Amino acid sequence: MPASDKTPPARSTPVRTTGPARTQVRPATEGWTQKKDAEGRPLLQFASPKRGKPPVHLADMTPEERIAKVKELGLPGFRAKQLSTHYFTHYTSDPAHMTDLPAEQREELVGGMLPPLMTEVRRLTTDRGDTIKFLWRLHDGALVESVLMRYPGRITLCVSSQAGCGMNCPFCATGQAGLTRNMSTAEIVEQIVRANRAIANGELGGKKRDDHSMERVSNIVFMGMGEPLANYKRVMDAVRVMVAPQPNGLGMSARGITVSTVGLVPAIRKLADENIPVTFALSLHASDDQLRDELIPVNSRWKVDEALDAAREYFEKTGRRVSIEYALIKDMNDHAWRADLLAEKLNARGRGWVHVNPIPLNPTPGSIWTSSDIDVQNEFVRRLNDAGIPTTLRDPRGKEIAGACGPLVATTEGAAAAARTA
Ligand code: SAH
Repeated sequence: MPASDKTPPARSTPVRTTGPARTQVRPATEGWTQKKDAEGRPLLQFASPKRGKPPVHLADMTPEERIAKVKELGLPGFRAKQLSTHYFTHYTSDPAHMTDLPAEQREELVGGMLPPLMTEVRRLTTDRGDTIKFLWRLHDGALVESVLMRYPGRITLCVSSQAGCGMNCPFCATGQAGLTRNMSTAEIVEQIVRANRAIANGELGGKKRDDHSMERVSNIVFMGMGEPLANYKRVMDAVRVMVAPQPNGLGMSARGITVSTVGLVPAIRKLADENIPVTFALSLHASDDQLRDELIPVNSRWKVDEALDAAREYFEKTGRRVSIEYALIKDMNDHAWRADLLAEKLNARGRGWVHVNPIPLNPTPGSIWTSSDIDVQNEFVRRLNDAGIPTTLRDPRGKEIAGACGPLVATTEGAAAAARTA
């Protein structure tokens, strides 16, 4: 039964914030308990469990390392550039397509530089064909997903940065499954290359008939599985490959890349110092610590104010306007006073530095929570806009294929599909 069909029994809980006590109605949480560590704190997994390493791939290497590796394989260094061109501009890893490489050494060269990283297990497409959700199996059987979406004037890919996630957010399907492992740089990049290949093959629908331009992924959002800032180095190396000019990288614009985080404050500071102007998004979901402690367990380490200060610093250092994500959960975090408190906290840190993206919650299978009513969503947005904070409700694209945020999880159904193709 979908979670939205359940009407959870309501109970009243007085909530203390600044000012007079306010009563809120909260869904009862029977059937769900927060996973805790040995000290009784909400469970957080920062370290990636040890598993066999994915094969080293051209996209894991710097251009210099690629040349060195090609020489190691007994070929002149300039072959590295040819391989990069095949991979980053023709989106191919198939030696049969690489007729500019010497036939005798081609297999060995391609095998050494572009080893297979992932197998497509299943693909779900919306009726209009403009959204595709891919389920991939990595070399060790771990499953990850990416979602490709066509919008007017842009094509966005939602990528995964970890198999599973260690952040344990109760409303997110991925969060409930725990962390399997970090993805490698090349595994992150490969999702884009495979999406570009699908686009080049005409597999993404919704294209205007009179548009003859060469198309490819223009925007990346790190909003698939995983907490990107918990896999910092590999994610940043992947970003560097995305923005490196062709043929050494994908030649994408940093501004079109959004890194979204639960709020790992030291990593946000580091990101601000990278000098790569990516778009930064903070998954806030509550403006008071009492509720955020529950919704985002990492709030036990870094509080709302610390996360917002780090977000503001990101703006100051990069000049890039920050996004605040806020999943609207019925009777949980959608109260008008919470919109006001959010506006107050954002305005206290200055004007024009931030916008808010509320997203109606996508109920995950078995979840006790559901999305807010439309009038409540609209009131939440109106209050923020009235307070001078630009706020736009995000369209939960791909709902019919569970491609929208949260339901990115290796479902039982997905695992069964994986077993069939193994
Ligand atoms: N770890 C990163 C990326 C996670 S997914 C982060 O937390 O930002 C991207 C966004 O989807 C996050 O804001 C996340 O909180 C949100 N999300 C997760 N589950 C959701 C759900 N069921 N409905 C709506 N948004 C959800």
